[in-house]
Amino acid sequence: MAEVQLEKVGKIYPGGVRAVEDVNLSIRDGEFVVLVGPSGCGKSTTLRMIAGLEEISEGELFIEDRLVNTLPPKDRDIAMVFQNYALYPHMSVRRNLAFGLERRSKYKSRLKSLVSGDYRAARSMERADVAKRVEGAARTLGIEPLLERLPKELSGGQRQRVAVGRALVRDPKVFLFDEPLSNLDAKLRLEMRAELRQLHRRTGATMVYVTHDQEEAMTLGDRLVVMKDGLVQQCAAPTEIYAKPANRFVASFVGTPTMNFLEGRIESAAGRHRLLCGELALDLTGAALPTNPPAELTLGLRPDRIAPAGPETPDVAGLPEGHIVAIERYGDVQDLVLDCCGHRLIARVGPDVTVTEGSDLPLRLDLTQAHFFGPGEDGARL
Ligand code: ADP
Repeated sequence: MAEVQLEKVGKIYPGGVRAVEDVNLSIRDGEFVVLVGPSGCGKSTTLRMIAGLEEISEGELFIEDRLVNTLPPKDRDIAMVFQNYALYPHMSVRRNLAFGLERRSKYKSRLKSLVSGDYRAARSMERADVAKRVEGAARTLGIEPLLERLPKELSGGQRQRVAVGRALVRDPKVFLFDEPLSNLDAKLRLEMRAELRQLHRRTGATMVYVTHDQEEAMTLGDRLVVMKDGLVQQCAAPTEIYAKPANRFVASFVGTPTMNFLEGRIESAAGRHRLLCGELALDLTGAALPTNPPAELTLGLRPDRIAPAGPETPDVAGLPEGHIVAIERYGDVQDLVLDCCGHRLIARVGPDVTVTEGSDLPLRLDLTQAHFFGPGEDGARL
């Protein structure tokens, strides 16, 4: 089990495309780290550099304190699971699982027979070892009944399990996953997520996982590395990323529906602050505004912090009105698309709240839970 360390790692592809820049990351032994970000942000490139499938242009990569920049993939003691399974179609599941081990096992048999002089005995021992490993992996993944089937006789989820099994039999130092669940339907994805978490708990292996799906990242990772344009935006536990996003990009990327943002100007008088956003004026009493806020900033508020004002709502002056443009009902929750003085806001409310499209309603914005960012799309957390 290993620790993976990236120091100032960067990648420039031939032709000059800078895909990854100055990535510093220390992955602890047994940790499950998820690289997440929109398409093209450099997460696969980073993973492939760890795997040795892509040359490292800048910086240093260590696996268990060993500099591995120029070490070929087969010598890095890592196993990678891809999106498209890459199973051999003409081989049974058993042979697919054993295939990677066979070559190594023949080599080991030859080495052993040099000492003992008995190739047959050495070979038979090595064969037994491969068989044991294959069966161990099949048991861990619950695919023992499928061992004699061909890949075409398996469902998508079963194929994915075999692909994970191929990594598992090798007992590598580090598991690398590149969007392994994207080809599965939504229900199966959820099941496989739970299985991967279990696998991680059971094996205690170091895992690095790439996905563009923030929900998958949040539910799988001990720690997330949120990337954009080749740069790490934030590296922290999922709860920390959700509660304290480092900048507006991270805030907008994590959470469903996405956070609401209001850009405005701070007006301060007699120790009280208001945020003026066009016609909307928000009283910031009780909000965690930094002591010396800049004149212009962005307020962020998650959709579950906006609700219709009820009789119990304290009578705060200037409750904003929202016009309900659309309602999306999910059964357990409803998302209200609101127009609030020209600003588009989303509110997530319970299923029992009675609302109708096209009507107006007074809103309660729980600004004690507001986030504040510097101005602009990439504004840093204040
Ligand atoms: P992600 O996995 O986050 O979708 P990638 O790591 O695949 O992103 O790509 C990062 C950037 O590098 C993108 O701009 C992509 O177009 C570019 N890129 C990826 N592979 C190559 C390549 N082989 N040659 C040139 N540019 C590439």
